[in-house]
Amino acid sequence: MNDCLFCKIIKKEIPSKIVYEDEQVIAFEDINPVAPVHILVIPKEHIANVNEITEENSKVIAKIFTVISKLAKENNIAEDGYRVITNTLEFGGQVINHLHFHLIGGKKLGPKIVQ
Ligand code: AMP
Ligand code: ZN
Repeated sequence: MNDCLFCKIIKKEIPSKIVYEDEQVIAFEDINPVAPVHILVIPKEHIANVNEITEENSKVIAKIFTVISKLAKENNIAEDGYRVITNTLEFGGQVINHLHFHLIGGKKLGPKIVQ
């Protein structure tokens, strides 16, 4: 995707603080953190959002969650707990149209469901 910000981060055309990378997955610090730990974990393949997950491309989702589990431990938030969020389209509050999972932790978070 030529005009996708996260694809540009994957291609290193835009700088980011990368905390994990392999062939399928990349993770980097959110530019506008809402908590002491706020990392975005994304597939390198351009998948727009959860609606676009299929039998064919879904293997990377399991990989993403193993990366999230590893990053939670590395950042010392695994024991206290944390939140993983993915926003989908307008009503879900999705701003960047490349599937991403927010790993948020390091403080006690607010209400689980925001209206
Ligand atoms: P969402 O609202 O779920 O689409 O979240 C998009 C997230 O991307 C927000 O938390 C932004 O702070 C974050 N973001 C936007 N631009 C960048 C960037 N260049 N590097 C890192 N994170 C970014
Ligand atoms: Zn993309």
